[in-house]
Amino acid sequence: MIEKMNAIFGNKPYTIAGPCSAESWEQIYSTVKSLVANGISVIRAGVWKPRTRPNQFEGKGEEALKWLQQIKKEFDVKIATEVASTEHVELALKYEIDIMWLGARTTVNPFVVQEIANSLKGVNNPFFIKNPINPELSLWLGAIERIAGAGIKNIGAVHRGFSSFQKTKYRNAPMWQIPLELKSHFPEVPLLCDPSHIAGDREMIFDIAQKALNLNYDGLMIESHYKPNNALSDAQQQITPDELAILLEKLKVREATSDDVLFKNHLDELRDKVDHLDREIIEALATRMKAVEEIGEYKKDNNVSIFQLNRWKEITETRPQWAKVFNLDPTYILDIYKFIHQESIKKQTIIFNKDNIDSTPQR
Ligand code: PEP
Ligand code: MN
Repeated sequence: MIEKMNAIFGNKPYTIAGPCSAESWEQIYSTVKSLVANGISVIRAGVWKPRTRPNQFEGKGEEALKWLQQIKKEFDVKIATEVASTEHVELALKYEIDIMWLGARTTVNPFVVQEIANSLKGVNNPFFIKNPINPELSLWLGAIERIAGAGIKNIGAVHRGFSSFQKTKYRNAPMWQIPLELKSHFPEVPLLCDPSHIAGDREMIFDIAQKALNLNYDGLMIESHYKPNNALSDAQQQITPDELAILLEKLKVREATSDDVLFKNHLDELRDKVDHLDREIIEALATRMKAVEEIGEYKKDNNVSIFQLNRWKEITETRPQWAKVFNLDPTYILDIYKFIHQESIKKQTIIFNKDNIDSTPQR
């Protein structure tokens, strides 16, 4: 799987760059010319644009595919575009698109994903799957499984962030844990980051891309337009090909691992330290749970309910305050205490139920 990707992209990080959408011959020609001059060889361009509201620019469709086919020949580049239906797949293949991807709004829909998978039988092109809009790992895994089920060998995943109820500085909250879980399910599937759609703002692209490389992502998909401010879609998050080249140059690419003996030795020492500390944390949690069980017995003996609102309020106030003293993020500590409290309630419930069973009159 990796060999084919390497053949297409060259060395890691795999880079796909190009405008959000192919808007006109002049726009796509000038953008790609400049991208190629800056060393980019895999071009993205949306042909059918999923817009939240109607009556906006929805892509140029087949006309744009003709431009892209010509661009491919003229600059000897690979072309990637989004497909959202079997008709799109047919047209993309007709116009020699090299790489197709499922957009975030399609990955959420298993019916459509399955239809597209069926239409890909016998196709050999690489295929990327963006994460679903909503933060559900299983939808992302499912879409990958459906496309793999069609026999597609060169599958990649693209992390473009998730919609969230909480207001964040991002257009789409990255929720890094989800793509990392995806990577542990499918270590062989190259994982690309799309910092443009996570950020929604060109100022944040570098930091997000660097974070992805720090996490050992395999590549990047970045939106680039020769006149970003005039773009017909996603104008605020696009950068010029020259800016892209500077950004890529500045990024530090991390090694997956190191064979340096001194590095390995010191890392082992540090990990030993973490192992010891984790044991201590687990021992402390066990001791805490014993105390909770005693409390459970005591409440039961005195006919007092398990959940004590005031006590829980006190814990949720004090623990985050204590966390601050040790320079820990208070919301992180609060989240941990929610889990601990859940387990404490569970253990006390077992104690209360056990007593109920014991006291059930014998017949
Ligand atoms: C895009 O790549 O331009 C796009 C529409 O992306 P997403 O599916 O991630 O929203
Ligand atoms: Mn876009």
